[in-house]
Amino acid sequence: MAEQVATNITLHEGTVTPDELLKNMGQKGATLWFTGLSASGKSTIAVAVEQVLLSRGHHAYRLDGDNVRMGLNKNLGFSPEDRTENIRRIGEVSKLFAESGMISIASFISPYAKDRDQVRALHKDADVPFFECYIDVSLEVAEDRDPKGLYKKARAGEIKGFTGIDDPYEEPTNAELHIKTHVDDLATCVQQVIDFIDDQNLFA
Ligand code: ADP
Repeated sequence: MAEQVATNITLHEGTVTPDELLKNMGQKGATLWFTGLSASGKSTIAVAVEQVLLSRGHHAYRLDGDNVRMGLNKNLGFSPEDRTENIRRIGEVSKLFAESGMISIASFISPYAKDRDQVRALHKDADVPFFECYIDVSLEVAEDRDPKGLYKKARAGEIKGFTGIDDPYEEPTNAELHIKTHVDDLATCVQQVIDFIDDQNLFA
């Protein structure tokens, strides 16, 4: 956990409760945390899930590498320390979105179990629902897909510290949802996530 630098901070009373959100927004917030190898299908499934939720009139927002690494985290790279700080900040932001009543869908490789656990703990402390969704794929299938040519570059040594090649991916052991994109097609995977969300009593 990053050191608390600012002191003399007092939390204000009057936090909006999940029941108020349910009454006024028609839903409670939650974080859906997608973790998995590059090319496992996190972004593709996240986009589709967001679309389904929005089309039903729910409120959802996606956090992903593009909208985070270009702004909030543009000073961070891919060293272990930076990856940890990347996930810590995203976890905080996702929690804030969820507290505002959004279904926050965070899709990040988030390869280290301790970082994911820290985000889980952060949500637990704030009493905000957190669901870890393991977007699973075999390395073989991920390399075969290679939509951005990143595995090829990593194998050629042009990218160092690439998850699954020369940096570890620590598989979740306590994920609430396990999606296997090397087994099920996209539509099935999306439906599995939607069915899971529908079972969480988040909507009025
Ligand atoms: P990530 O965000 O995990 O890096 P992407 O979603 O960018 O992965 O890329 C995954 C690729 O795999 C896409 O081209 C997608 O169309 C393809 N794909 C094939 N089968 C599936 C599936 N069952 N679920 C998700 N994506 C799949």
